[in-house]
Amino acid sequence: MQLPVVIIGSGFAGYQLAREFRQLDNQTPVIIVTADNGDDYSKPLISHGFSRRLSADAMIQKRCDALAEELAITILPNTRITSLNAQNKTVSYGDEIIAYRDLVLATGAEAAIPPVRGDGTTQILTLNSLQEYRHASKTIVDKQRVLVIGTGLIGTEIALDLSLANKEVWLVGMTEQLMGHLLPDFISRELQQRFQSSGCQVMTGLTVVELTQSDSGLRVTLSDDRVIEVDAAIAATGLRPRTALANAAGLRINRGICVDACLQTSSPHIYALGDGAEISGTLLPYLQPIALSAKALAKTLAGNRTDVVIPAMPVIIKTPVMPIQLSGETSGAHLSWLVEHTDNGMIAKAYIHEDKMVGYVVTDKQIAQGFSLLAQLRATA
Ligand SMILES: Cc1cc2nc3c(=O)[nH]c(=O)nc-3n(C[C@H](O)[C@H](O)[C@H](O)COP(=O)(O)OP(=O)(O)OC[C@H]3O[C@@H](n4cnc5c(N)ncnc54)[C@H](O)[C@@H]3O)c2cc1C
Repeated sequence: MQLPVVIIGSGFAGYQLAREFRQLDNQTPVIIVTADNGDDYSKPLISHGFSRRLSADAMIQKRCDALAEELAITILPNTRITSLNAQNKTVSYGDEIIAYRDLVLATGAEAAIPPVRGDGTTQILTLNSLQEYRHASKTIVDKQRVLVIGTGLIGTEIALDLSLANKEVWLVGMTEQLMGHLLPDFISRELQQRFQSSGCQVMTGLTVVELTQSDSGLRVTLSDDRVIEVDAAIAATGLRPRTALANAAGLRINRGICVDACLQTSSPHIYALGDGAEISGTLLPYLQPIALSAKALAKTLAGNRTDVVIPAMPVIIKTPVMPIQLSGETSGAHLSWLVEHTDNGMIAKAYIHEDKMVGYVVTDKQIAQGFSLLAQLRATA
């Protein structure tokens, strides 16, 4: 009997790998085991879900059954793998054991919940999966005042989206500026001004210390002792790669599941990709690196061992009041900036040495310039 390639996880990483592998090999059995219902959906759409009034079902691109048929693979939905035996090359759930030829951990990451006191913390919503969005959208639909904790990329996008959906929004984060790890301060400030103009209250340099249930909703105490009343709270305070299975099986983990350039873990025949993987020391929780990882890993699984090569990638920030695209090094005091302000937005180029551009940020209609800047960046890398 031919042993299967087993993929754990049906997010973008798991399904993209199955698609790429099937283009190279339509014989080897493939089994995808997933803790969720296995429907294929677009996670980035969650950032527009509230303002566009999208139901969770509207984000589904293909149902689990249809995808299994299209790719000629077996999908086991609503099935959580609970142990991995690298020696015997098996994974198991309940009393069931699946033997594999090669195993791929595409188990993603969980939304981190900030350490907040109070009986309201059980009400904190997260948005890192379709199930979480389904629950959050039902909870929020008839609520007006929403707290978003976290001023990173996802928190910022979600806060603006709720504001565009006519909610009253407070965006609170511990860093001094919006998306401080991605944006230079002059662009962050401009974005914050536009947020305030659109009605979203931005409170930077603060943490939420307590969340308690009150008669009218949730009482939020901030680190400067200010108190606000909201009806719902969402945390977008980062991701924690799911490493428990790998850890228990003795694989090397750090922040994520450690893999080499071929996406192999510290154990032969076990690979990892997606939000849960740490590739040569780096976490890359974005679609494009995952798509490149899936392409390379499919080749490896088809017998042609291939390194994943990840060039400078564009990051698109989905904030309609100020669309932004960036790539390369774009934050930090070591950078010097050449900034062009135009009626159509900003073009900001980051330099370390006078002649070497190491990153760029373009805004509004100038995002059209992003692709030629990206080509320049790649050419000088
Ligand atoms: C709101 C939002 C907007 C985003 N927008 C963008 C964007 O515009 N551009 C961009 O590039 N990226 C964006 N991202 C990031 C991007 O969506 C993710 O990097 C990507 O979807 C991660 O896919 P994944 O398959 O690695 O993980 P996941 O989607 O988290 O999938 C993990 C899978 O593993 C399964 N699983 C976990 N443990 C087990 C187990 N023990 N047994 C069985 N199954 C298990 C889960 O059920 C799930 O199916 C966004 C993310 C969010 C949250």
